[in-house]
Amino acid sequence: MTERNLLMIPGPIEFEPSVLRALGEKTRSHLDPVVMKAFSRSLKRLREVYVAPTAQPFVVAGSGTLAMEMAVANLTQPGDKALVVNSGYFSDRIGAMLERHGASVTHVKAAPGAIASLDEVKRALEGGGFKLMTITHVDTSTAVLAPVKELAALGKQHGALVIVDGVCSVGGEDLQMEAWGVDVAFTASQKALGAPPGLAVLLASKAAMATWKARTRPVASMYLDFAEWLPIHEAYEAEKPSYFATPAVNLIMALDVSLGHLIDEGMANRIARHVKISAAFARAWAALGLEHLPKHEAHRAHTLSALLYPAGVDAALVKAIGAEGVTVAGGLHPELKTKYFRVGHMGAVSMNDVSAVTAAITRALGK
Ligand code: PMP
Repeated sequence: MTERNLLMIPGPIEFEPSVLRALGEKTRSHLDPVVMKAFSRSLKRLREVYVAPTAQPFVVAGSGTLAMEMAVANLTQPGDKALVVNSGYFSDRIGAMLERHGASVTHVKAAPGAIASLDEVKRALEGGGFKLMTITHVDTSTAVLAPVKELAALGKQHGALVIVDGVCSVGGEDLQMEAWGVDVAFTASQKALGAPPGLAVLLASKAAMATWKARTRPVASMYLDFAEWLPIHEAYEAEKPSYFATPAVNLIMALDVSLGHLIDEGMANRIARHVKISAAFARAWAALGLEHLPKHEAHRAHTLSALLYPAGVDAALVKAIGAEGVTVAGGLHPELKTKYFRVGHMGAVSMNDVSAVTAAITRALGK
């Protein structure tokens, strides 16, 4: 029975059988022309997914946290000032990372389930001198969706490079990297990109690459350094064999298939589907009397829901839903971890999943 369980956590998600078949194929040499072709196509497809025709993509073995640290390590030098628009646990994480890399960090923090207003962020930016500004597009701990377009515009107006944590958004939420002036946006394979965990994905704008090139000291980590990865990615995109560190060959093959599905669906259709499914889930939550953690509808993600436990119900509900055949996630935000649970709805999610999840939660609540 366990293999028929429906995995509805905010990553990893349910993957398309064609993606898993690609993962299970014979492992080829990372220099094999078939792998080169898939790598090259994946990089090009990522520019389409991010709507960033001139950005430099990087795909490196590792999780989303590695992608996060790649952004921070390449763009931070000791003493740089960074502004973190903090909407939860993963904003805290990037703030801590920036500090480790020597930045002086200011947080514009909101209560869990909320996000700072544009005015608050503007006032903080007016404080001046920020080299970097970070935004968590969807903070997976709270399901808060940040207004990236408006925030990025503010960051640009004040001369900051804009870094977007898109781990829980890219491929599921609207993100027009280049038009919105985003300089770095990163994600991981296991969420709305629809491939198993293990790949860190990062796209950098021309301005981000220029900032990296202008560093006065080398990047401390060799594995994270754009200097190591840039020639490799340029070679792979040109389908020329090259080596710095062994790519996760099977994951690249799976990512290529998954990105093909995204492109075939069309990004606009894909985003619209996530909006439609999250609206269907919202109707189900209302019918079940479940309240969202993010109070304002405009701040609710389309890739997951964070729901407060009703009175008299606690974290045992997550286990009970699991016993009904659907795996959901508990709370994550340290301040109210035990007060809510989370349902992921990204990637190949469908209306059938809405019905299955709603039925499982109804049965679990009944018990
Ligand atoms: N940022 C966000 C918004 C995330 O949701 C996650 C993973 N849940 C991460 C960063 C870290 O990614 P990973 O777990 O793949 O390291």
